[in-house]
Amino acid sequence: MSQIVVMMGAPGAGKGTQARLLQERRGWPQISTGDMFREIAKAETPLAEDIRRVQSEGKLISDDLVIRVVHERTNREDCRHGYILDGFPRTTAQAAMLEKLAVEQGNKIAAIFVDVPFELLEKRTSGRMTCPVCGEIYNVYFKRPQKEGVCDKHLEAQLVKRADDVPEKIRTRLGEYENSTRPLLNYYKESKRLHRVDGTSELEAIYKEIEAFLADKSERSGSLSKQ
Ligand SMILES: [Zn+2]
Repeated sequence: MSQIVVMMGAPGAGKGTQARLLQERRGWPQISTGDMFREIAKAETPLAEDIRRVQSEGKLISDDLVIRVVHERTNREDCRHGYILDGFPRTTAQAAMLEKLAVEQGNKIAAIFVDVPFELLEKRTSGRMTCPVCGEIYNVYFKRPQKEGVCDKHLEAQLVKRADDVPEKIRTRLGEYENSTRPLLNYYKESKRLHRVDGTSELEAIYKEIEAFLADKSERSGSLSKQ
């Protein structure tokens, strides 16, 4: 029995970091829809042709097309023991499609919600600055560089802010995220497959909690399938 880990959390909550730790330590590939589309659209397959057509017409990618991409990516060998989804599902319609895929693959779904209070998320994103040379990330609230505005290792490099890391845009983004994911959170909560972790805890403490939850879920499904 393998697991499909659905990572949920607002931008800046740190779900990407946790997903990366899971990938490194458990060997499960971390699959983000953005990466999948970029990769699959390059291929010479009917699916890739459909994607290119939709993109060239400037249309929205339908749920149906998204699930075909997820299906094609997660049926590969490296996903045999489980995989981590980041950015999918986004809607309850997509969640229903994932349900079917999980049954087909013989996998169990476990959803993780990395919960961080709104004000903290705002600080994490609005204070963020990156070194254009090495990619090191600083934060004016939490991780100041030694000299204001420049990287500790590259004194010649002025730290840069992402254009959309400004307060109004952050607030809009967080609001949109909350509205669009609340139904999904409820969906996984009601089916008892959601685990909320406190995203303000230490990285390793969060990770341990996630591991424990996944181990517990996988034991339960193991004993269920033996009955
Ligand atoms: Zn640097």
